[in-house]
Amino acid sequence: LFCGPVTFVKGVTTMQALPPADRVEVCFAGRSNVGKSSLINALTGRKALARASNTPGRTQEINYFALGDTRYLVDLPGYGFAEAPKPVVERWQRLLKSYLAGRQTLRRAFVLIDTRHGAKPVDEEIMTLLDRSAVTFQVVMTKADKVSLAEREAAAAQVRGVLARHPAAYPELVMTSSEKGDGIETLRSIVATLT
Ligand code: GDP
Repeated sequence: LFCGPVTFVKGVTTMQALPPADRVEVCFAGRSNVGKSSLINALTGRKALARASNTPGRTQEINYFALGDTRYLVDLPGYGFAEAPKPVVERWQRLLKSYLAGRQTLRRAFVLIDTRHGAKPVDEEIMTLLDRSAVTFQVVMTKADKVSLAEREAAAAQVRGVLARHPAAYPELVMTSSEKGDGIETLRSIVATLT
């Protein structure tokens, strides 16, 4: 799939613990419950790879997966989860900022947006952070199977309106359904061809 097996590398909570920046990496960000684990599992062809990151206590970790030996896929914790205590949220935001601004090998961030909900203010906060960090980001619409074609188009139009305000945004969206497999091959080839 990605020139070798997909494996879990480690979960990190500090910049010091990041693996050596010796290969291209992409990261995935999105609100809790957006369908990030399902998407990563569909993308890697591994059923429960990203499940570990969803278990309580691991949610504040940046999870590294190796795609063969040429790329890392980085699973960022879901955001917008009101239950987390403030110090935890602040610690996480500091780590996220350091990661996005300081990771030389990070080529693209994928910002996941639920097709049913469209881009929310908390998604725009992440986009603004990506602008400031000069990290190109691309929106991946999730759970497209849950809505009609007209609703997909309306959601995409809303997101495009938001993206127009963000200089780091890559203009093309990827519409996906982890359930049906739509858009997964497209996303896989984007990840596989980034250099
Ligand atoms: P995460 O919190 O972002 O990792 O989200 P999950 O991957 O755990 O998904 C949250 C919920 O949405 C679960 O109940 C999934 O089964 C469901 N889900 C995720 N992706 C899809 C999809 O493409 N289609 C449908 N219908 N449901 C999905």
